[in-house]
This record gives sequence, C-alpha cells and structure tokens, in this order.
Amino acid sequence: MPSVLGHALAGLTISAAYTQGRPPRRSWILATACAVAPDLDWFTGFLRLSDGNSLSHRGVSHSLLAAALIAAAAMLIGFRHRLRSPRHWACMLSAAFSHGLLDACTFGGTGVAFLLPFSRARFVCLWQPIFVSPVPLTGRLLDWLLFSLGTEIVWIGIPAGLAFGAPRAIQWLRLRRSSEELP
Ligand SMILES: [Zn+2]
Repeated sequence: MPSVLGHALAGLTISAAYTQGRPPRRSWILATACAVAPDLDWFTGFLRLSDGNSLSHRGVSHSLLAAALIAAAAMLIGFRHRLRSPRHWACMLSAAFSHGLLDACTFGGTGVAFLLPFSRARFVCLWQPIFVSPVPLTGRLLDWLLFSLGTEIVWIGIPAGLAFGAPRAIQWLRLRRSSEELP
C-alpha cells in the first residue's frame, strides 16, 4: 500500500476537487477518513491469514462493497441532512474507492479483492508506479524513504498539488486581473 500519508493526501485532494474554494472541515476530514479506512485490515496481519483469505490485507475491506459502506457511514456521520446530495455521495465514494485504486497501483504486495464477497480474484493495475510501503516499517528506513515515499511524492503528491493548487491559482489570477482593471 502507499503510506497512510499518500492515502490521506488523496482523500484531501478529492474533497477539494468537489468544493469551490476551501473545503469545509467536515468534508475533508471525512473524505480523508474514507481514503484511509480500508487499511484497518492491517491488524488482521497478526492473525497470520493466508494471502487469499477474504479477511487478509487488501481483502474485503478494500472491495467496492466496502467502499460503498464506508462512504455510507461517512454520509450518516457527517451529512445526515444531505443524504440526497449526489455531490457529497460522489465525494465520499471517490475517496473510499481511491484507496483500493492506489493500492492496485503499487509495485509489491498482493492484489486488491475489489469484487469480494462475489469473487476472490485479486486485481492489480497494469502500471504500478508506486513502491509498496513496508508494514511494519523495518530498519531499512533509507530504502523506504527513497523508494516508497519518493514514488508517492511523484505519483500522488505532485498530481494532488496540481489538482488542488491549479484551480485556486487560476482563480486568484483572475481576481487579481479584474481588480487591476477596475478604475
Ligand atoms: Zn490498503
């Protein structure tokens, strides 16, 4: 998996993409939580389950069904008065789904069981540019920094920065230009 920072950044960026200006605190907190939540299955590592087990890492908690349930929980917790808002649903669903998608783009680790409980098949993206984050973190900190965090900066951090910053920079330039044109 990408590190928790990579997933959190994805959730944060998705919440910003669905909002004009600064996203409300509730929105970015819940979107970030949705993007990180599937890795709660990390604790099943202590159970020494086989890789093909539905409860093992990247199993049922990373499925599309789990993403829908996580998004529904976020909506019930934070947006009970907006349960009919497609924008809020899309934001939470995108954030929850981003987790499995990013995991599938990592080089190393097992595939993602997107279709559980209907199929145990594990999926990976054809292109896997992000180096898997070792869990638990071993003493090879330099390797982790160079390969895992480095690839996350390139493939999550820079696109997130552009997605978050570009529309706001354009808006700022427009406002500045219009204020300069005023007599
Ligand atoms: Zn994961």
